[in-house]
Amino acid sequence: MLNKVIDNLKGMVYCNIYDEYWTMLYVSNGCIGLTGYSPEHLINNQTISFQQVIVEEYRAYVRDEIAKAVAHNSWFEIEYPLQHAKGHTIWVSERGYPIFDEFGQVQALEGYIQDISDRKNVEDSLKKAEARYRSIFENAIEGIFQSTLDGQYLVANPALAGIYGYASSEELIHALNNIQHQLYVLPTRREEFVNEIATKGKVQNFQSQIYRKDKSIIWISENARLVYDKDNQPIYYEGTVEDITELKNHAVEIEYQATHDHLTGLPNRYILNDRLQQSINFAHRYQSMLAVVFVDLDQFKIINDSMGHSVGDQLLVAVSQLISSNVREIDTVVRLGGDEFVILIPNVHSKDDIELSLSRLLHNLSKPLTINNFNFSVTCSMGISVYPNDGDDPDTLLKNADSAMFKAKHAGRNNFQFFTPELNDILTDRFNLEYKLRRAIERDEFLLHYQPKYNLTTGQISGAEALIRWQPEGEVLIQPLTFIQIAEETGLIVKIGQWVLETACRKAKQIHDKTGTHLPIAVNVSPKQFRQPNFVEIVQQVLKETGLTPSSLELEITENIMIEDTPKFIETLQQLKQIGVKLSLDDFGTGYSSFSYLKDFPIDQLKIDRGFINALEQDNANMAILKAIIFLGQSLGLCVVAEGVETQFQYDFLKSVGCDEVQGFFFSKPLPEHTFDVLTLQS
Ligand code: C2E
Ligand code: MG
Ligand code: MG
Repeated sequence: MLNKVIDNLKGMVYCNIYDEYWTMLYVSNGCIGLTGYSPEHLINNQTISFQQVIVEEYRAYVRDEIAKAVAHNSWFEIEYPLQHAKGHTIWVSERGYPIFDEFGQVQALEGYIQDISDRKNVEDSLKKAEARYRSIFENAIEGIFQSTLDGQYLVANPALAGIYGYASSEELIHALNNIQHQLYVLPTRREEFVNEIATKGKVQNFQSQIYRKDKSIIWISENARLVYDKDNQPIYYEGTVEDITELKNHAVEIEYQATHDHLTGLPNRYILNDRLQQSINFAHRYQSMLAVVFVDLDQFKIINDSMGHSVGDQLLVAVSQLISSNVREIDTVVRLGGDEFVILIPNVHSKDDIELSLSRLLHNLSKPLTINNFNFSVTCSMGISVYPNDGDDPDTLLKNADSAMFKAKHAGRNNFQFFTPELNDILTDRFNLEYKLRRAIERDEFLLHYQPKYNLTTGQISGAEALIRWQPEGEVLIQPLTFIQIAEETGLIVKIGQWVLETACRKAKQIHDKTGTHLPIAVNVSPKQFRQPNFVEIVQQVLKETGLTPSSLELEITENIMIEDTPKFIETLQQLKQIGVKLSLDDFGTGYSSFSYLKDFPIDQLKIDRGFINALEQDNANMAILKAIIFLGQSLGLCVVAEGVETQFQYDFLKSVGCDEVQGFFFSKPLPEHTFDVLTLQS
C-alpha cells in the first residue's frame, strides 16, 4: 500500500548515494513525470545519472547546499531546474536529509523532489512586474511618494528628491520629517490637504508653494489619496508631485500682459471694471465719494499723424508717467486705449478736493515735454463723474465721465468738466443727429445752393460756390454749420462730399452746355475727404463722368488740413493742379494764416474769411491789415477773394484797394438751384 501511495505521488521519492553521480538506489515512479526518465534508467546510473539531469549551471549549487546539510546533519531544501528528457527544463524543489552510519559517515540521501514550475512562473512574472513598476517609479518625471498620516515620507522617488532639491530619495526621507512645517510655505496647506482628502477621498491639482532644500520657493501641484489596510484603517497617503513653477510664472506673466497696457505699463480696460467696482464698494462702506475721471489728450491725433507713431508713443508714455506721478498712491490710472485714460480717485470728501487735484494735474501736464528734440505742450480734456451722485455702477459712472469729457472738449479743451444730467440730453441729440444724417444719405435729402462771386473790375459774375443744405422730410431746411462738424467726426462727410462734388460738377457742365460760358463752380472739401488716399483719382473720375472741363472746378480747402502732414498735403495739391483743377484756400485768416508757407502751396485763390471783412468798419487798423493781406496775396500771384461782403462800405473799400473778387449777401445770398439757373442764363 505504501508503495502504491508513493508511486502515485506526482513528485519523486528517492534514495541515493552521496557520490559524484548522486547514484540512485531507489526512485519512485513520479520520476517519469518529472524527468522523462523511468526509475530503471536512473537507478545505478543505468542510462543517465541524476547529476546529469540537474541543469548544468545549478549542479555546483545543489552540491554545496547538500554538503552544508550533511555538515550540520540537518534537512536541506533547495530549488533548481532539471533538464527533462524531452529537452525543456522544469523547476523543482527538493527536500531531503542525509543518512549516517554508526561511524558518522554519510551513507545516503533520502528525500522528495516535486515540480514547482507553476509557482516559479508566477514568481517570475511578479519579479518582472515589480521591475517594471520600479523602473517607472525610479525614472518618472513626476515625484511619487507615500507619506505617513502625521507627515513623514515613507517612500519618495528620485524625481521627488530632485523637485525638492535633495540629492537622493534617502536624503529627502531622512531630512523631511515634518511635512507641514518644513515643506509648505503656508503650513495651513497641510491641513487643507488632509481635510480635502478626508472629504473628497483625494486631492487633485492641489497647488502650493513649498520650500526646497536650499530654502528657495517653488510651486507644486499634488494629486494624492489615502490608502487603507484590509481592516479599512487609513495607513498612509500616496500620490504624485509636479513642479509647476514655470507654468505659474508664465500664468502670472500672461495675466499681467492681459491686464496691462504694453506701451505704458498701466493697467488696461480689463482691470478697470474690477477696480471700479472695488472702489465703489469701498466708498459705499465708508460713506465717501469716488471720482471717475475720463482723460483725453487734445489734438493727439494730429501729433501722431504728423510726427510719426514713434513720437506719438513716446508722448503717451511721458503723459502716462506724468499722470501717474501727479496722483496719489491710492488712485488708479488706467489706459483705456489710444489717448484715453481713466483715473479713479477714491476717498474724496468734496468736489473741491477733486477740483484741486485736477487743476494741479492739468497745470503739470501742460508744461512742455521734449521728445526727439521737439517741444510738445500737451493739454487734455477731462470729464468727471462722482459716485454716488452720478451713478452707482461702473458702466454708468464711466459713461457719464465720458459725456463730461465730451463737454470739456467742446468747452475749448485743456479743462475739466463735471457731469450734469442735462449733458445726456445734449449727447442724445448728437447721437440722434448722427443717426438722421446716416439716413439722409440713403434718402437723398441733401441739396446744393449756389452763391455767386463777382469780379470787382468787370462787375461780372465770375463763379459760384456750392453750399450744401439738408432738407429732412417735413422739417425746416438745415444749414451746414449744424451738421458738417458731426459728419466730419463720424466720417460720413466722405460720402456726403462725394455727392456734393458730383452734383456741383454736373451743374457746372449743364451751365456750360446751356450758356456756352465756363462758369467755375467752387466745392468745399473737408479734411477727411481731402485726406483720402485716392482723392485725386476720385476728382478725375467725377470730371470724366460729368464731362466737365477741369478748370471749371474749384476746390476750396481750409488751412487746418495742412497741419497734419504738410508734405503729403502739398503733393496732393500738386497732383490736383496737374489735372487742371483750380485750388482755393478758404477761410484765410482763421487758422495759421502764415504767408511764409503760402508760397509753397500751388494754389490759385485766397478767400479771406468774412471775419476780416466784418471788422472793417470798426477800426482803421483792420483796413490796413486787410489791405496788406490783399497786396501780399496778389504779389504771390493769387486771386484774392473777399468773403461775406455785406455793406456798400465794405464793397467800396475792397474795390479801392484792388481786391479781385467778392462774395457776400451784399450781392447775393446762396441761391436755390432754379434761381441760380435763371441768374446764369441772364448774365
Ligand atoms: P464757407 O466755405 O466759408 O462758405 C461761406 C459761408 O459764408 C456760407 O455759409 C455762406 O452762406 C456764408 N456767407 C456768404 N456770404 C455771407 C455774408 O455776406 N454774410 C454772412 N454772415 N455769411 C455769408 P454756409 O452755407 O452756412 O456754409 C458754412 C460753411 O459750411 C462753409 O463755409 C463751409 O465751410 C461749410 N460747407 C458748406 N457746404 C459744404 C460742403 O458741401 N462741403 C463741406 N465740406 N463743407 C461745406
Ligand atoms: Mg467755402
Ligand atoms: Mg469761407
